[in-house]
Amino acid sequence: MKVGIVGGGIVGLAHAWSAAERGAQVTLFERTAKASGASIRNFGMIWVIGQPDAAQSTALRSRSRWLTLRDQAGIWVEPCGSLHLAHHPDEWGLLEEYSHLHRHSERSENLRLLSREETLLKSPAANPDGLLGSLWSQTECCVDPTSAVRSLPAWLQKTYGVEFRFSTAVVQAQAGELLTGAGERHRFDEIIVCSGEDFATLFPEVFHNQPIRPCKLHMMRTVGQPDNWRIGPHVAGGLTLRHYPNFRSCPSLEKLAARIESQSPELDQYGIHVMASQNQFGQVVLGDSHQYGLDVEPFDDARIDQWILRELHKIIRLPTWEIESRWHGIYAKYSEGLFFERTIAPGLHVFTGLGGNGMTLSFGLAEEYWDRKLPNENSNQSVR
Ligand SMILES: Cc1cc2nc3c(=O)[nH]c(=O)nc-3n(C[C@H](O)[C@H](O)[C@H](O)COP(=O)(O)OP(=O)(O)OC[C@H]3O[C@@H](n4cnc5c(N)ncnc54)[C@H](O)[C@@H]3O)c2cc1C
Repeated sequence: MKVGIVGGGIVGLAHAWSAAERGAQVTLFERTAKASGASIRNFGMIWVIGQPDAAQSTALRSRSRWLTLRDQAGIWVEPCGSLHLAHHPDEWGLLEEYSHLHRHSERSENLRLLSREETLLKSPAANPDGLLGSLWSQTECCVDPTSAVRSLPAWLQKTYGVEFRFSTAVVQAQAGELLTGAGERHRFDEIIVCSGEDFATLFPEVFHNQPIRPCKLHMMRTVGQPDNWRIGPHVAGGLTLRHYPNFRSCPSLEKLAARIESQSPELDQYGIHVMASQNQFGQVVLGDSHQYGLDVEPFDDARIDQWILRELHKIIRLPTWEIESRWHGIYAKYSEGLFFERTIAPGLHVFTGLGGNGMTLSFGLAEEYWDRKLPNENSNQSVR
């Protein structure tokens, strides 16, 4: 089977890997010279804990694919786990409630409430001032998105013969055929369009009137921390409890969210919650904010970074807060499901809209898709 993929972000790469592993002959088209979209601009958190129950198995499958990449492709992947720190009684109350609600679910095996002292032993970053405890989860992993996403093509090429056409925009797609900006036509049996937040080039009529929107996020990264200091697990705080769907089952969430809204309305206005991860170079990645809609400005409002840093200072301590880089990223968010998938014509599919979960879910979702399309028999046979 000949497969054409549009887009060299994590979604396109995930499809390329799963299809090629099942014996397909894959060509991937990426309009930029190297991946530069959401997939290289994120925290690198494989954030299993934040996924709803229905997506747990997909997220865990993705996680194990990342560990395969660590073992086979030499990509840096750290199974670091995560901590949700509680610095307010309602945050601690919610974490207790969450643990109690999940005491009989499969999640419970991976979760543990930690006392203040246990938390401080788990992460030297946890701010002891006002710390009440934390929720430890062992399923999260850390990757460096830029190096991972930019090194995967060479491994896929070498291992499975995937062909990469960088600096090649696809300007038209129809069943069985892709047309590039240079006027070349390419024939395929199966085409997967993974064009991220570009709703204008291919199939604008499909995206029009769908509940799918771009979202702009502010991010920062410190210089490498001194003396090989390590953060340990990924760190999140009370603000994050109102961001991911997993905590929505907790009745006390409403009250916690109302407190935050009345104390700091700017946090809701700019969708700010704060997290930190640390890459293999010792840099701590900090964020983030969420501004939705097509009319979001390209200019970065400096106040947003100040608010993010203000909130981070409340929950963590770092040896150095010296900022090395600031950037924003834009992802596509589909609000009526985990992701947006459409079959435009037989053998022509669109796959995007994963919001803040693309690093966590793409590998698992692509596996599920290609399990249906090319079940089993070719799996793993084409490794060269
Ligand atoms: C700041 C930030 C933090 C995040 N943190 C996390 C996190 O910690 N964990 C997590 O799981 N997720 C996180 N995410 C979400 C995750 O990064 C995205 O869900 C994911 O990267 C989306 O991947 P994608 O392949 O759809 O999009 P992209 O990475 O944007 O890739 C799409 C690619 O398609 C190419 N393209 C588009 N149109 C064409 C065309 N016509 N022809 C050729 N090429 C084309 C583009 O050039 C682009 O390279 C974060 C996102 C952001 C922005």
